[in-house]
Amino acid sequence: MNSVPTGIKISVSGIVQGVGFRPFVYATATRLQLTGSVWNSSKGVEIELFGHQHQLDQFLTDLKTQLPILARIDHIETNTIPHQELSGFSIKDSQAEEGQFLPVSPDMSICSDCLQELFDTKNRRYRYPFINCTNCGPRFSIIKNIPYDRPLTTMAKFKLCPSCQAEYDNPLDRRFHAQPVACADCGPRMQFIVQGEIIGKFEGAITTARQFIEDGKIIAIKGLGGYHLACDASNEEVVQKLRERKKRSDRPFALMGFDLETIRKFCEVNDAETAILQSPQHPIVLLPKKDDCSLPEALAPTQNHLGFMLPYTPLHYLLLESDEGFPEVLVMTSGNLSDEPIAYEDEDARIRLSEIADGFLVHNRPIHMRVDDSVVRLVEQKPYFLRRSRGYAPDPIVLNNEIPQMLACGAELKNTFCLSRGHYAFLSHHIGDLENYETLSSFENG
Ligand SMILES: [Zn+2]
Ligand SMILES: [Zn+2]
Repeated sequence: MNSVPTGIKISVSGIVQGVGFRPFVYATATRLQLTGSVWNSSKGVEIELFGHQHQLDQFLTDLKTQLPILARIDHIETNTIPHQELSGFSIKDSQAEEGQFLPVSPDMSICSDCLQELFDTKNRRYRYPFINCTNCGPRFSIIKNIPYDRPLTTMAKFKLCPSCQAEYDNPLDRRFHAQPVACADCGPRMQFIVQGEIIGKFEGAITTARQFIEDGKIIAIKGLGGYHLACDASNEEVVQKLRERKKRSDRPFALMGFDLETIRKFCEVNDAETAILQSPQHPIVLLPKKDDCSLPEALAPTQNHLGFMLPYTPLHYLLLESDEGFPEVLVMTSGNLSDEPIAYEDEDARIRLSEIADGFLVHNRPIHMRVDDSVVRLVEQKPYFLRRSRGYAPDPIVLNNEIPQMLACGAELKNTFCLSRGHYAFLSHHIGDLENYETLSSFENG
């Protein structure tokens, strides 16, 4: 085609950082033989593109229709700019601007590619409990500030090894600028601690934790957004013990089943429930108990539903791996005393949970923001949130009109708050009941 080359500047806002958006732009522009550059700003992502009009039109179509799974575009602005003769397409450094803000991606469950690598004996991250990529893994819980760059996350203290660095720098790699990228050589590590003493490290930490669970003990597990308390869900005695120690009179415990098939042994699961259990958010879903459900009544006294979730981190997959004699369903309830917020800082967890847990399965990646598991119930195929937190917070609700900045403080019980800015209403993660000092502090920090 003999048209005159031209240029456009595209400004994109929405969830466009930390989700593989720039590599996607790079790959799309390169495929369409366009030149220019892309960079993160405090508002989102900026793109300058040069080429023929039909190529630019195709780019805009692909931009909207072939997005990476975790990305979401809320607004696109395009302006024509003078053509520049460039030799290729490049990804430039982030540019922060004062007074701007940007939605941060929620924490997402492990993706199918990472899961496949986790159990691939030939992969260099074989059985590494912190495997992640731009399509999955921790985000909100590790971000200290924006723009979303490794030095501003709790991964800053882990220096990338040459192999991880090469993946991080390669725009065509699934781990290009994946801020939490790590491997066994350079990343976070597991430990199993009993009464202040380390009794297992690395894979041995997980093996010991599994042994404790099999032996009917209660363990505290440091996860993505906080600590869980875990035990064998089929062992009535330990479930009762957990209830007594947690001072949780009759509230239901959340459960984790290794896979969908396992959950189906105990609960009815329809297609809509299957879809949400397996969604990138992996919330707890309330499911009707089967008449012949063999799990103890003590898990959820007087309830005809059980709250189930699937493993959502690589650590969960290693912890729940099926093996003869190992329970197929675990209690995975928030690491707290009844009504307090979930523990997420190591020292605090050791103090608050020491009376409850017989051992601690921990790691050295700090959690910056506590994030509880989300809880969803489907009514007529539609999800209703009982708790909107991990996987969803801090994803804002996009409003039709811009509104003034406002803070809505929420109620005393089951508190969440909401902050509005421009076209966004940011709902906080689940805070809890404010009558409690711990919870009130969490509200103030949030
Ligand atoms: Zn992944
Ligand atoms: Zn590495």
